[in-house]
Amino acid sequence: KKRPDSVGFAIIGLGGYALNQMMPRFVQSDRAHIAALVSGNAEKLAQVGDAYGVPADARYSYADFDRIAADKRVDAVYIVLPTGLHADWAVRSFAAGKHVLCEKPMALSAAECERMIAAGKRANKKLMIAYRVHFEPYNLEAMRLMREKAAGDIRLIRAEMSYRSGPTTPAENWRFARALAGGGPLEDYGLYGLQAILYLSSEMPESVSATTFRPANDPRFSEIFAHTGAQLRFPSGAVGQLATSYDSHGINAVHVRGTTGALIMDPGTGYGGHKVRLEGPNARELASGDPEVQFAGQLTHFASAIRDNTPIRTPGEMGLRDIRLVEAIYASAAGGRTVKL
Ligand code: NDP
Repeated sequence: KKRPDSVGFAIIGLGGYALNQMMPRFVQSDRAHIAALVSGNAEKLAQVGDAYGVPADARYSYADFDRIAADKRVDAVYIVLPTGLHADWAVRSFAAGKHVLCEKPMALSAAECERMIAAGKRANKKLMIAYRVHFEPYNLEAMRLMREKAAGDIRLIRAEMSYRSGPTTPAENWRFARALAGGGPLEDYGLYGLQAILYLSSEMPESVSATTFRPANDPRFSEIFAHTGAQLRFPSGAVGQLATSYDSHGINAVHVRGTTGALIMDPGTGYGGHKVRLEGPNARELASGDPEVQFAGQLTHFASAIRDNTPIRTPGEMGLRDIRLVEAIYASAAGGRTVKL
């Protein structure tokens, strides 16, 4: 049952993640509902609109989006477009007077992120990045345990986020096109590892050294990197190591090594099926709850921020922070040098 002040969202981009993961989860939030749809595909718009009971006059094409400004049913937009389109659509949505929930990665450059944040401030509207893991029980417990030093002082955090893509080209799949995806696996999958290194260490790195690899004559990697590896050095002396690839056997794992124990998350940041354990004096398997709550959890969190003016756990500033690190990683790899932060 929805609260009377439930926030109406316009979904922008009816792709895989919107249709298969997020849209079906709106029913699980008591404070968020789908009020409008925005799509470049008229047939899909009609089909999905019918399935979700979205009135015909709340179905928008990209071309007629700007009339959404007058649509009182829509309080916020949820941007689920390819990353290279996030900045322009966030700015356009703020100009239409809507709050913005934007998928990760926030955008392709720090400059784009800054443009989004500035537009939100100008419009006096909220901006949240949909970092669902911050609403997922295993990761929330892992954050708490590491803050409480359940593995002692952290010395090493290793994050591996990889899968092997099938044959494709930048024209067929936006994730392989530089203009829409940036450098590739780092922004997309590796970002979970980068985030985990930050929220488990509760530190910001002081320097980074990194390397990228792009195989020759592979149509998948004509524009983006196949692998990126980065080493982050923290003020405490802890080291973070991130490896991410679109061309190696699948893994989604984070290992934290402390002075007295370890935290193993393998897998740790997916939609479900988490396996997380502590080693050392506090050794145990975690049973933190149902990972599925992460999807609706972020919707309710954003709705509360809008209605009650409560702080946003994953604001635009966090997205910007992460993209600055992504830029530093690529600068380090390109220059073959350690980059001070
Ligand atoms: P898809 O390719 O499945 O969907 C993207 C949709 O964007 C398309 O279906 C299309 O919708 C619309 N679109 C508009 N312009 C273009 C264009 N030039 N090229 C391709 N699509 C376009 O991508 P995903 O759903 O996997 O990803 C969308 C966003 O969600 C990305 O930012 C991604 O990083 C993020 N994501 C987040 C996840 C998470 O766990 N938080 C998981 C997966 C993705 P239409 O036909 O309606 O116009």
